[in-house]
Amino acid sequence: MDVKYVPTTCPYCGTGCGLNLVVKDGKAVGVSPWHRSPVNDGKLCPKGNFAHEFIHSEDRLTKPLIRKGEKLVEASWDEAYDLIAKSFKKFKPDELACLSSARVSNEENYLMQKFARTVLRTPHIDNCAHLCIAPTLVGLTGAFGSGAMTQSVADIAEAKSILIIGSNTFEQHPLVGRRVVQAKRNGAKIIYADPRFTPTAKHADLYLPFAPGTDVALLNGFMQHIIRNGWENKEFIGNRTRDFEKLKAAVMQEKNSLASVSKLSGVPEKDLATAAEWMAKSGGNAIIYSLGMNQHTTGVDNVRAIADLQMLTGSVGRPGTGVCALRGPNNLQGACDMGALPDMYPGYQAVTPENRKKMADAWHAEVPEGKAGYSVTDLIGVLADKPGTVKALYIMGENPMLSTPDLHRVEKGLRGLEFLLVQDIFLTETAALAHVVLPAACFAEKDGSVTNTERRVQRWRKAVNPPGEAKPDWQILCELAGKMGAAKQFTYKGTEEIFAEIAKVTPQYAGMSYARLEKPESLHWPCPAADHPGTPILHGEKFATPDGLGVFAPVEWRAPAEVPDKEYPLVLTTGQCLWQFHTGTMTRRSEDLEREAPTGWIEIHPEDAAGLGISDGEVVRAVTRRGQIEIPAKVTSEIRKGVTFIPVHYAESAANVLTNSAPDPVSKIPEFRAGAVRVEQMAGGQ
Ligand code: SF4
Repeated sequence: MDVKYVPTTCPYCGTGCGLNLVVKDGKAVGVSPWHRSPVNDGKLCPKGNFAHEFIHSEDRLTKPLIRKGEKLVEASWDEAYDLIAKSFKKFKPDELACLSSARVSNEENYLMQKFARTVLRTPHIDNCAHLCIAPTLVGLTGAFGSGAMTQSVADIAEAKSILIIGSNTFEQHPLVGRRVVQAKRNGAKIIYADPRFTPTAKHADLYLPFAPGTDVALLNGFMQHIIRNGWENKEFIGNRTRDFEKLKAAVMQEKNSLASVSKLSGVPEKDLATAAEWMAKSGGNAIIYSLGMNQHTTGVDNVRAIADLQMLTGSVGRPGTGVCALRGPNNLQGACDMGALPDMYPGYQAVTPENRKKMADAWHAEVPEGKAGYSVTDLIGVLADKPGTVKALYIMGENPMLSTPDLHRVEKGLRGLEFLLVQDIFLTETAALAHVVLPAACFAEKDGSVTNTERRVQRWRKAVNPPGEAKPDWQILCELAGKMGAAKQFTYKGTEEIFAEIAKVTPQYAGMSYARLEKPESLHWPCPAADHPGTPILHGEKFATPDGLGVFAPVEWRAPAEVPDKEYPLVLTTGQCLWQFHTGTMTRRSEDLEREAPTGWIEIHPEDAAGLGISDGEVVRAVTRRGQIEIPAKVTSEIRKGVTFIPVHYAESAANVLTNSAPDPVSKIPEFRAGAVRVEQMAGGQ
């Protein structure tokens, strides 16, 4: 019997674990450890263990589909391409927009932004970064000159103290959690701040159950306590940073005293003091955060406060220290690196007239005027509130009908489009609204590269054939570009050739090639030359700012856009669980994962539940100003009183029907993580 083991990279979270797909008779039948993987040493979480299970699902898309009235009917590739090309050509460039994907390869993201800019000539290109990590790009770039995670995953094990805030690491990035366990075993103190006593909290030496939306207050409180006691790292501040006096003047205000912060956040003063002391005195503090810090109207402020705290204690640029800004999906880092952003070309080169010329020369094509396009959040606003502004949308591997806040508004916007093209592996909630659907290959069915949360570039290797007539996204983009008269700029023998072009136009990838990704199997960017070993730890000698100094920027606490009131008396926060991933498109088709967490739930504190007459397991109604859903209640003392939690994976109880689209004023990320909700019994209770 023909069995082979194909080393590749997990398609789920941003940790980017290596695994072997076990292939028998042309089918992916299992996953086995890839011990050499430097990210995870052969260990996997349940999602990685069962990563093969969705690949051969019976409902994979296998042929292009074209809308005829209410129905989507099968069509040939030529029919679909002709219709798409004809439809796109009807509109002006500014009336077209593209959404790229944090779940496809670097090569595919690179081609999508090149297609948007050179074939459609539109500036409106984005990926889900503006729903996930945009505050990190803005906040860390302001502080350090680069929006990337500063240390490597393995390096976390060397930390002497770790603050985890806005990240349920052990469920969302379990193999990063493993490094936290290793650090703890080496003597590190683990501090966990979260309104829920999650599985991550169980590993903490100190748990801080703070009120949602009080992150900045908490961080300012830590900083005041550190400065008040003279524990700041004076040498680091003096040699490596500027604007410390501005920070000091702001954080020393009475409102940032531990007493005031304790009152606001609900965390005992003594615990705040202990956390601050551990971080300041450990000699090597790491901060791990993820979407829980980003997805707020104060997202950029949250990130700036984290950067301030790390510079204050001199905890950047050395082994065991740093800002671990964990990316959610597997290739969110790569999608951003590749320039699938409305204001950046590949390699975070800003969209300016000068860089526009540079890209036009490199691509031998016209590129739209050097102005930023719509972010995905701007785009949804334009579609919903200014119909006719954008008339056609091309979505590759994203499902905004579940992933974006205020879903009724999203649906209104998408239904108002004259032409919607969706390219995906399944008929998602978004694809069901499309005029044309194109069947794509999944991670196991194509070659490519992906970049994990620590900037490590790794390979995807083809293990099996795509089902039916499905094709890799990169191939679809090239064929479509050809149909639209741009064959010359989109002719590649394969993904290796696309990667070579990426290396030419993306300074951070300049020294990389497929050959180098075979041995030593992966490289951290920046890797500026063919003999450069890559850079696991950033900012060792100097920061990436123009003068090489880290920049302190004091931030003041602001309340979330929506706070509880008489009508909506509880806080709603959202997140993910161990067994499912994002909108569930892949994990819900995995028998072993779906069995463990088959439907959504709303967590509510026993005292809140008792006041409402709600019992555990009872189906309740959750209502916000955006809409309502019916969902089983999980009554648990592992959540703060006054706070509720809903996981985001489930279409039948979609958390994002309820969430608030109010954006952070700078990064535009919506406030998924703090809204006001009312929970009520269904008529007559149960
Ligand atoms: Fe996959 Fe993330 Fe689990 Fe690793 S930790 S196996 S990358 S889901």
